[in-house]
Amino acid sequence: DDLRISDPARTREIMAQYHLRPKKSLGQNFLTNGRVLQDIVDAAELTKQDAVIEIGPGIGALTEYLAQAAGHVTAFELDQRLLPVLADTLHDYTNIDIVHQDILAATPAQLSALAPELNIVANLPYYVTTPILMHFLESGLPIRRMVMMMQKEVADRITAAPGGKEYGSLSIAVQIRTKARIAMTVSHTAFNPPPKVDSAVVVFDFLTEPLVPAADQAYFNQVVTASFAQRRKTIMNNLLNWYGKTPAHRAILTAAFSQAGVAPTARAETVSIAEFIVLSKKLSEQK
Ligand code: SAM
Repeated sequence: DDLRISDPARTREIMAQYHLRPKKSLGQNFLTNGRVLQDIVDAAELTKQDAVIEIGPGIGALTEYLAQAAGHVTAFELDQRLLPVLADTLHDYTNIDIVHQDILAATPAQLSALAPELNIVANLPYYVTTPILMHFLESGLPIRRMVMMMQKEVADRITAAPGGKEYGSLSIAVQIRTKARIAMTVSHTAFNPPPKVDSAVVVFDFLTEPLVPAADQAYFNQVVTASFAQRRKTIMNNLLNWYGKTPAHRAILTAAFSQAGVAPTARAETVSIAEFIVLSKKLSEQK
């Protein structure tokens, strides 16, 4: 077939041929806009030397673009019904492996065996955006860049700076490990079937070293989670609830706040990552 898989007419034809009813429960919204697909691949800045992991190839729309830009593509698809479809639509490409597996079950050992440096590109299944994102952020894998389509609302939380209601533990979990930016927003008309929400493509460039060393991340994460437990409360009240409320606990917290330069009356959403790092360090030293 001369048309790209993502061509709206070809996508309709493939869906009809295989009697394919997209599963909402698996977040199946197939991209049918070549401009958007090209922009995603361009944002990944791939060369023929690069190996790419794709999450959820669907009927192969993005996979086809990736196979043309990269040296090799490994695509993880959970829905068994799509395997014969992909074998057919991607038949002409020799540099694609389709793996029938839940991406959340893929181990770091399995993924790191694919290439010394990984690129991850996906039009994510939206029902599982945050778990997939955390899976890769916490994997310790040698990832160069991730380019991911997701709900605009999640993209806004990921890239948020302190001071607004979007800023929270997700923004911090991402930004201690990557430099993240929204490359573009995407209309629901770019998909078949169209999702109910607006979408955005986020580019994540991994920092050479995370801002919080791996060994300290679990404790740091506890401090951040506790700080945001009740967003309308002050960070001091939230941390007293978690850390302890005795005068001794209060004294340690007060000292840590002053060393971090954070006002006890502040709310967590105004506290910068640099301030959280000092706060967490001071508290962990007192454990
Ligand atoms: N890449 C295709 C495109 O852009 O047209 C399809 C994207 S669609 C939004 C998400 C895909 O992820 C679906 O094919 C779905 O079956 C698959 N999927 C859902 N959950 C998954 C999981 N846990 N692991 C791997 N694939 C999954």
